[in-house]
Order: sequence, then C-alpha cells, then structure tokens
Amino acid sequence: MVAEQLDARGIRDPRVLEAMGRVPREAFTDEDDRKRAYEDIPVQIGWAQTISQPYMVALICEAAAVRPGQKVLDVGTGSGYQAAVLAELGAEVFSIERIRQLAERAEDKLVTAGYGQVTVVLGDGSLGLPEEAPFDAITVAAAAPEPPPTLYDQLVAGGRLVVPIGNRRAQRLEVVVRTPEGPAVVHSVPCRFVPLVGEEGY
Ligand code: SAM
Repeated sequence: MVAEQLDARGIRDPRVLEAMGRVPREAFTDEDDRKRAYEDIPVQIGWAQTISQPYMVALICEAAAVRPGQKVLDVGTGSGYQAAVLAELGAEVFSIERIRQLAERAEDKLVTAGYGQVTVVLGDGSLGLPEEAPFDAITVAAAAPEPPPTLYDQLVAGGRLVVPIGNRRAQRLEVVVRTPEGPAVVHSVPCRFVPLVGEEGY
C-alpha cells in the first residue's frame, strides 16, 4: 500500500509514509472486509460511511504537517484509522464523530490496536471542540460547502485546517492556514468525500 498507492503517487513526507506503514489498517475495517483493507478505495464501515482511501488519509496527514507533541482535532472519526495515523505522527489527537455507533466502535478499535491515547468524542465536529481548542491542526474527513468558520477560529496562529470544500458530488481538498491577515488557502487538489452533516456543514 505504502509503495504502490502512496509513495508512487507523490506522498513525499517520510514520516507519513512510515506512520501509515505502522498502523494495521485491517484492524479498523469490518471483519468481513479485512481482505479489502489495503485496496485503493474507500471501504464501507456501516451507517452509509466509509474508511477513507489510503491515499486520501496520507494526503490529509501530509497537508496537516503535524509535528510530534502538537494538538490535532480529527473531524469525522469513522473507523478511527486516520486518528491512529495522526497518533503515530506523535500528535495529541482528539477525534469527533456524530454517529454514536461509529464513535463507540472506533474507540474500541483504537484501544485494541494500541492507540488508547486518542480521545474520541461524540458530537457535531463542524463546531469543533471548543473545550480543547486551540489546535495546531484540524483535519476534516467529510465535505463542507465552505471552510467552517468555527473550526478556523479554533486554530492557533499559523495552524492548518485541512478540509474538502465543494458540493456533494465533487470537492477540492483545501489547506487553510490561519494568518494575521485572515484565512489563506495554500493548497488545493480534487477529491470526493461524504458530506459533513452539521451546523456549519450541509
Ligand atoms: N477518517 C475516517 C476513517 O479513517 O475511517 C473516515 C471518515 S468518513 C469518510 C467521514 C465521517 O465523518 C463519517 O463517519 C461521518 O459520520 C462523519 N461526520 C460527518 N459529519 C460529521 C460531523 N458534523 N461531525 C462529526 N463527524 C461527522
């Protein structure tokens, strides 16, 4: 997966490649889908949601430029896989999911896989996690019509918000940096995600 889907497709940060090589992706898919865990596709995890394609997880983690010890909010826990990769990068990870069953299952899987230090929260991640803000980076694994202002406001100065922006069919993965002059979009590539359902999403 790392060689064929990530390195070969342009993921350059060696820390992200190593982290994704260490996290056992099959531990985050459903029992019946273990054989599909390393395919180059999003895989269903129930409740009409997916564990993101490995390349997209890598792209988001690389774009977030997470350093060890930084505080990161992962919006859209899903299976918990991306939260585990962020933890492997040395971040203090808070992960928020709106579907109770997914949040509970992800928490179990994270503990079982050795990532019990990740804090999983049930709630509307489009409003961030004010009690833990500010964050060095906020990663969003669901598409929003525009960068949620509340998430931007929960970044430190220079912090990065990585979020798919567009309509329900097609988006661009944007990296929005908090600057003294206001939001600066520094990077953007095409992508396709499930919708961010919430107060500042769809
Ligand atoms: N990163 C996840 C992984 O590694 O498995 C995959 C995330 S999946 C593509 C998107 C997730 O975002 C779904 O689990 C969905 O329920 C969640 N979601 C959508 N809107 C949300 C919101 N407002 N707050 C929290 N989670 C949300």
